[in-house]
Amino acid sequence: MKKVLITGAAGFIGSHLCDKFINEGYRVIGMDNLLTGSLDNIAHLFPLEQFDYYHHDVTKFVHVPGDLDYILHFASPASPIDYLKMPIQTLKVGSLGTHNLLGLAKEKRARILIASTSEVYGDPLEHPQSEEYWGNVNPIGPRGVYDEAKRFQEAITMAYHTYHNLETRIVRIFNTYGPRMRLDDGRALPAFFGQCLSGQSITVFGKGDQTRSFCFIEDMIDGIYRLLLSDYHLPVNIGNPEEITILEIAEEIKALVNNPQASIVYKELPVDDPKKRRPDISKAKQILDWTPRTNRMIGLEKTHEYFKQTLKKSEII
Ligand code: NAD
Ligand code: UDP
Repeated sequence: MKKVLITGAAGFIGSHLCDKFINEGYRVIGMDNLLTGSLDNIAHLFPLEQFDYYHHDVTKFVHVPGDLDYILHFASPASPIDYLKMPIQTLKVGSLGTHNLLGLAKEKRARILIASTSEVYGDPLEHPQSEEYWGNVNPIGPRGVYDEAKRFQEAITMAYHTYHNLETRIVRIFNTYGPRMRLDDGRALPAFFGQCLSGQSITVFGKGDQTRSFCFIEDMIDGIYRLLLSDYHLPVNIGNPEEITILEIAEEIKALVNNPQASIVYKELPVDDPKKRRPDISKAKQILDWTPRTNRMIGLEKTHEYFKQTLKKSEII
């Protein structure tokens, strides 16, 4: 049985990765310090003999006994609200945390995949963004703590590949959504669902004409899995190229939740908020034979169902 270590296992994407690897027949070690994640996301895995959970901060030396075949490094605050609240932890998990995990991968001769982001392109001056674009990032702006940590993460990963012949993979993840996002993580989709479901006004930042391209979690997990098992070591964009304005998605969620009275309030646009974002996924198509398959309405409905249940549970408690 192949053994995989997943950091950030109690988070949104990490917990779905744990499910995927368990379903594919791997032994999984999930590691997390619960900074932004929750054990609720992986509670269903605890009874399984193939699953172990290590509570650990990956910015400290990481020890795992025995062999390891793969490491997936997904630990990091990921929503703008989280990384603005925890700027130093964000910088440390991208830099020191990544260094520790690369060291572990070298020791075990394991293949390591790191979670990078479309934020390495910053507020992009090229559209759509292909992997060849180097980005437009403000290193000292509020988002710099996340963006530069991820850029450093890519640089040190490539250095381990080049100088230690380590097998490395880099996924540049574009905005992803789905069940197990935190309702209060401040990202647009959970914020809009939470507001519509609890009768509050929808907060649209700026004029809402900025764009994003939202990928459903099941498609994202499939893309990451294919990249890990591929033989391609350069960065690959994984995301859904269907671009939409923030105002349009707010209207879609309002209609889905069936709350036509929900009003929209316009708030100040956060500093350095990217004006547009859409992945060029030619590489993922060509190298991984991957393309997103989930229609946005289906993905939004599944997410809606999850948030409804979450709110119901919190009311009971
Ligand atoms: P999340 O906040 O739900 O999950 C992150 C997990 O990492 C949490 O469980 C948190 O407790 C854990 N963590 C943070 N610091 C840690 C540390 N020092 N040691 C151990 N665990 C730690 O976020 P997510 O959306 O699941 O994002 C996961 C990864 O994917 C992140 O690396 C993020 O940068 C990347 N990513 C996500 C998106 C997205 O749209 N969700 C987009 C681009 C990149
Ligand atoms: N946004 C918004 N209202 C909110 C939360 C976010 O209008 O309550 C906007 C935000 O300014 C950005 C977009 O939605 O332009 C996506 O934000 P998110 O935090 O989801 O992710 P980002 O892509 O900015 O990291």
